[in-house]
Amino acid sequence: YSEDDKSEDYLFKIVLIGDSAVGKSNLLARFARDEFYPNSKSTIGVEFQTQKMDINGKEIKAQIWDTAGQERFRAVTSAYYRGAVGALLVYDISRRQTFHSIGRWLNELHTHSDMNVATILVGNKSDLKDLREVSTAEGKALAEAQGLFFMETSALDSSNVAAAFETVVKEIYNILS
Ligand code: GDP
Ligand code: MG
Repeated sequence: YSEDDKSEDYLFKIVLIGDSAVGKSNLLARFARDEFYPNSKSTIGVEFQTQKMDINGKEIKAQIWDTAGQERFRAVTSAYYRGAVGALLVYDISRRQTFHSIGRWLNELHTHSDMNVATILVGNKSDLKDLREVSTAEGKALAEAQGLFFMETSALDSSNVAAAFETVVKEIYNILS
């Protein structure tokens, strides 16, 4: 193989899951395009977006899948999960109901994919300080109990967005190498 043979590149499929309106599409828009949609309907999502990342000097392509709103109808299909090696499990820190749903999403993820999926629990909308309904400690505790990484993010002010995706990609890389 020549130096610039790209056949050794890594392509990781990563899925975004969680209740409607927790900010999945905006996390992806912020990460991949540095964009934010203040009044997005759940239809802005594309099927997936590929983002190049550099991990330990290796070029990695993260193929990040967005539900494009199918979660509203509880119709996230098995095709969505197929082949996923990473997942961001997202709730909204200002809506406790979305935190309660995490268990259901985790079950669905484990039903449809390998137990080995690198998963991070993401409490999004950390900018909404005055509206917080789920404490950081609760998020951390759930993540620890389930063996997940944990981070609070804001797609609005960008905090921890890249870090959350990078955590998953690094973990997949560590599992595979
Ligand atoms: P999805 O249904 O999970 O894909 O959620 P969307 O990305 O469509 O976001 C739903 C709503 O929440 C939109 O009005 C977004 O502008 C808003 N939103 C998303 N992320 C954040 C965030 O980090 N902070 C705040 N304040 N609003 C957000
Ligand atoms: Mg969406």
